[in-house]
Amino acid sequence: MSYRGPLFENRFVKSLPADEISQNYGRQVHGAIYSRVSPTHVSAPSTLILSDELANQIGFSQEFRHSQDFAEVFSGNKLLPGMDPYASRYGGHQFGHWAGQLGDGRAINLGEVALKEGGSLALQLKGAGATPYSRGADGRAVLRSSVREFLCSEAMHYLGVPTTRALSLVLTGDTVIRDMFYDGNSQEEPGAIVCRVASSFTRFGHFQLCAVKGENELLERLLDYTIEVDFPHLHAHELNGTYSRQDIYLLWFDEVCRKTADMVIEWMRVGFVHGVMNTDNMSVLGLTIDYGPYGWLDNYDLNWTPNATDAEMRRYRFGQQPLIAQWNLWQLANSLLLIVDDAASLEKILVDFTGYYEQQWREMLGRKLGLRSFDSGTDEILIARLNRVLQLHETDMTIFFRTLAMFDPYLPEARFTDVVMSAFYQPEEIPSEVLTEINAWGDLYAERLRRDDMATEQRRLFMNAVNPKYVLRNYLAQQAIDHAHLGDYAMLRELYVLLQAPYAEQPESVRFAEKRPEWARHKAGCSMLSCSS
Ligand code: AMP
Ligand code: MG
Repeated sequence: MSYRGPLFENRFVKSLPADEISQNYGRQVHGAIYSRVSPTHVSAPSTLILSDELANQIGFSQEFRHSQDFAEVFSGNKLLPGMDPYASRYGGHQFGHWAGQLGDGRAINLGEVALKEGGSLALQLKGAGATPYSRGADGRAVLRSSVREFLCSEAMHYLGVPTTRALSLVLTGDTVIRDMFYDGNSQEEPGAIVCRVASSFTRFGHFQLCAVKGENELLERLLDYTIEVDFPHLHAHELNGTYSRQDIYLLWFDEVCRKTADMVIEWMRVGFVHGVMNTDNMSVLGLTIDYGPYGWLDNYDLNWTPNATDAEMRRYRFGQQPLIAQWNLWQLANSLLLIVDDAASLEKILVDFTGYYEQQWREMLGRKLGLRSFDSGTDEILIARLNRVLQLHETDMTIFFRTLAMFDPYLPEARFTDVVMSAFYQPEEIPSEVLTEINAWGDLYAERLRRDDMATEQRRLFMNAVNPKYVLRNYLAQQAIDHAHLGDYAMLRELYVLLQAPYAEQPESVRFAEKRPEWARHKAGCSMLSCSS
């Protein structure tokens, strides 16, 4: 292969201790952060879709990205110069219970590339075969879940939500056997591999497993490495002696808490439900990571979860995401106790999460409502009542907020519900007392907007930049998957283009802004998802 692109660095591999065993079989790994492992060969890789923006940023030439070599590399069949592939070791709490060693069971890291603008990006194949952390599973991923990861992580990026990204989606040419509904009906499905990209893939669970195993020194090394590479501004404080190392650890934890809060705020802003907020799926950089049985709110419902496995407890329901984030941070703090000699400060940071989150949440809602700034005197009531109003009758969250910008507070004769009517499911069934209550909120909102006295056009622009027109509605992702299973990738590509400008009107694509059709209400993939992927 003649390749003249960026060379891969392996800072992670070079800086942290490796598993001494290099054979690829399932095992408990001790005293190491990662195990070297090669991707398993696939039979006929072909590139289905890729991000030109990311490929440009990384520095892959047009020629390379359209070559068969690209498909070979991003399916794991070939390595680029400098790549030294590995799977990392982590643990985690799954659904509130400590699960022991998990690790990259089907993710294989290829290394990092330095960027011209500074910083670096790590590349990771998801579905490239078994690793020492596969726990008996095949290390593969199916097309359906890969389409979901590719489209959603990219959609989130363009919405402005912190997330890992996707460089490519490659078909492997092999089939994978999955029991999608865990009902004994296994089926062959097409296999695929997504190349995920992030500045780092370090998870809470990386620290947790070191702590549980009592590997203090390893924990410290990992934390020092993370601070040096992923939090260079904190590292600078250490270098110039402004803070002690213990102080830096606390500053680091404080920053992880804030980044996590900021990420969840953004999920709440766009109506995203992660679905599996286990601590192994939490990035210390506050990036949305591990797109599994996630979903997007159609009707605004704080209790909704897309994850069929969680249907009963609803631990990871939309409205509980901030609390779970904080719970997860408690687990991370517990791990740090091994090397941070100041439980009281860690606890204070954790408690402060609540105030910080609530403040950010209010401000975020203020922006969605087009307010100049959040005024706690009046706006506390406004958003509390809004929260209730949105749940009185099934109301599409995305459409509601988007159409809110069309509301003119200077037109007293206009009924608020007429402006947002397209957001209601079964609008003809709304009881009159509910209409009255919603309109009463509209009156309050109009009064508040008049007090701000912002030109309507200006407010619209402002609101349309925070209330997306297009999100990856569950049924749309499922339709793209259904077509892809028939070998038709047009919708996948069309959605990808659409979701790169989620705040633009894109009048030719309005059909993708429509609310969930009735047929999708209870259809698998559209309302409920299994973890099997
Ligand atoms: P997840 O629920 O996707 O976050 O995965 C939880 C754990 O199971 C992680 O350690 C994954 O690497 C592992 N895992 C999930 N699916 C597979 C698979 N098909 N093969 C190997 N490991 C897997
Ligand atoms: Mg995971």
